[in-house]
Amino acid sequence: MASQEIETLTAALARLPGLGPRSARRAVLWLIKRRETSLVQLVEALAAVRESLVECTVCGNVDTSDPCGICRDPRRDQRALCVVEEVADLWALDRAHLFTGRYHVLGGRLSALDGVRPEDLAIDSLLARIEEGGIDEVLLAMNATLEGQTTAHYIAEKLENKPVRLTQLAHGLPVGGELDYLDEGTLAQAIRARRPVV
Ligand SMILES: [Zn+2]
Repeated sequence: MASQEIETLTAALARLPGLGPRSARRAVLWLIKRRETSLVQLVEALAAVRESLVECTVCGNVDTSDPCGICRDPRRDQRALCVVEEVADLWALDRAHLFTGRYHVLGGRLSALDGVRPEDLAIDSLLARIEEGGIDEVLLAMNATLEGQTTAHYIAEKLENKPVRLTQLAHGLPVGGELDYLDEGTLAQAIRARRPVV
């Protein structure tokens, strides 16, 4: 039986996505063996992130500065905006290195089942960004799920009379597929072959 402290650490790690009690125990043992190197590094990295973590007030990305690194990057195409459900989707798309514009994180998807309404998502701030002008293309990069597509449809309707070109990711995304789980090649293909929203 491990000490209370070790049990607490194991339980905390076991809650991480992709980990369970078994992997958590293995990770804890691994860290204990490397107390002076890996454990210290992990503690310092966690503390540093905890100190500096902020949500970007422009796009909703999570970063260590506000506005985030993407919003502040002058090399980014200011005229293209990619709308995603979650920060994880933003990171997944950005890893594919094909979309050079900026992002807008909705913070979820419309869902009658979970009671998520338009006012629960960052849709007003999206409309405000587009209202400010200077944006030519809005890429609706919702997940290929029913709720994702409902959300995309809702936003497309809201933007109907705005002077922006609406595009969406190409099919080839697996139906029911979540962006975060796709490999970069599939994502890159979906961005490259993006098509107008009809
Ligand atoms: Zn940002």
